[in-house]
Amino acid sequence: MKKLINAPEAVVAEMVEGLSLALPGLGLLPGHAVLVRSDAAVAREGRVALVSGGGSGHEPAHAGYVGRGMLSAAVAGEVFTSPSPDAVLAAIRAVAGPPGCLLIVKNYTGDRLNFGLAAEMARAEGLPVEMAIVADDVALAATTENAGRRGLAGAILVHKVAGAAAEAGLGLAEVAAEARAAAESVRTMGVALSACTVPAAGRAGFRLGEEEIELGLGIHGEPGVSRVGIEPADRLVERLLAAILDDLDPGAGGRVALLVNGLGGTPAMELAIVARHAVRVLEGRDLAVERVYLGNFLTALEMAGVSLTAMRLDDHRLGRLDAPTAAPSWPRDAGRPHEKTPAPPPSRPEGPPRESPSAGGTNTSTGRQVEAALRRVTAALIEAEGTLTEMDGAVGDGDLGISLARGARAVAESLPTLPLDDPAATFHALGMTLRRVLGGTSGPLYAAFLLRASTRLARGPADDPKTWADAFRDGTAAVAELGGAAPGDRTMLDALAPAVSVFAMGIESGQPTVESLRGAAEAADAGVLATAGMIPKRGRSSYLGERALGHPDPGARAVAIWLRAVLPPGAE
Ligand code: ADP
Ligand code: MG
Repeated sequence: MKKLINAPEAVVAEMVEGLSLALPGLGLLPGHAVLVRSDAAVAREGRVALVSGGGSGHEPAHAGYVGRGMLSAAVAGEVFTSPSPDAVLAAIRAVAGPPGCLLIVKNYTGDRLNFGLAAEMARAEGLPVEMAIVADDVALAATTENAGRRGLAGAILVHKVAGAAAEAGLGLAEVAAEARAAAESVRTMGVALSACTVPAAGRAGFRLGEEEIELGLGIHGEPGVSRVGIEPADRLVERLLAAILDDLDPGAGGRVALLVNGLGGTPAMELAIVARHAVRVLEGRDLAVERVYLGNFLTALEMAGVSLTAMRLDDHRLGRLDAPTAAPSWPRDAGRPHEKTPAPPPSRPEGPPRESPSAGGTNTSTGRQVEAALRRVTAALIEAEGTLTEMDGAVGDGDLGISLARGARAVAESLPTLPLDDPAATFHALGMTLRRVLGGTSGPLYAAFLLRASTRLARGPADDPKTWADAFRDGTAAVAELGGAAPGDRTMLDALAPAVSVFAMGIESGQPTVESLRGAAEAADAGVLATAGMIPKRGRSSYLGERALGHPDPGARAVAIWLRAVLPPGAE
């Protein structure tokens, strides 16, 4: 397991040092892994202080929640290990004044004992101290057979509620009562897709098979309720919420806040997918989802997975969640799913589709030639999908064949609606289609090629090969302008540019069009071969540098393929 660390025994000390340098308004307590509000000396005179913490490895918990309106101090133990009572006591002494201090503790035996002992010691020193326990995990039933339910991400919402109550100036007993009521009203369940590795241990605490997930896993890798095969995200969301709602029982019409918490190794994309369905499920249960919090709030190192938390709300508690805080990791703007403003209309409406005299069908010889050429070109690109994909795989990301085949299919499908007798309008329409469906680098380049060529074709006359030679040249110039590449940079231009010159020269000298086209296709082929000896300067393969040598450029090859397909059968 690779870790970005210096020494396993130094991770916590080095982490808190980094956090104290990076996070605004936070100071490091000398001699302890404790981060405190730097204005604590003033704040403690007039407000109840809030202290939380626990083992490290759950970042941004807990330092990220230190700030006016949330925690006064966060105590960081070793990774997944409760901090010592001395560290907790040092935190209490730093932030607690006459109004006293509330400790918010997640329900783990070690945390209860160490925070509890620190509270005893502080009280013995004359400081008023209360404790609120968070045990929001619904995966385990609370029985006398175990240490009770674990504290999970619901603790973050409890911090927020209690922090706002303290900031509002309430006394210690009232702040503690709000924190306990909030803890009673919150439930969480998680699912792990992969394990995590404690730096000092050096290997994962447990193993999950390639297709296996663990439901109800704890944030330290403690076993959950069951191991099952991986399922679609929506199904997992339904499982987690079913367990949560069974236990929370908010009742129809109830109001809830939803917290979607990444466990450290989950892409933000997947969290959003989970949030989407979680809101739907809750609303399907006739619940009012007042707030959605989405992100990494309480993690388990690099564990992949997610936990869902629901908290019952009334106006008062919602006000606590909405109250401002300076804590850096509390989201500035939580979603309010029912107050979404619609996306603004575009500042300029999309232009009307181009008028064309002859949409669909062909009545002219030019129209028939354009149609036949498009059929051959699209068929050739669809057939070349495998070859181009393989070539792009060697020097790029392997999508070129797929993209061009997708574009070709879209063009082939649009053939019956194209104004084929009007080549300018047809090229314009093709540009629009490719712009939409092609994507990648090729998409905009081909769209620019066709739009610029279309402009020249519009000036006509359509039956003069000179018009087509000019359009070809203009389109190629557009590719060079938009892409910023020159011949020799190892791009599609290394096929386009020689083909354009040979074609234009042929037409100029009075050669038959088919002859000139064949010359162009041969020039393109030669251009493709030459790219194998060029060092890429543009596009994705430029990152390869010399390693691209020996492989011809796939984009250039694609040009050669469609150019040859333009030639009528028998002429190629
Ligand atoms: P990507 O996957 O990198 O977005 P595509 O696979 O759609 O790009 O296209 C790759 C081809 O695009 C390359 O083989 C090259 O011929 C061409 N290309 C890349 N960059 C440029 C550029 N700046 N100008 C012209 N052609 C380029
Ligand atoms: Mg590509």
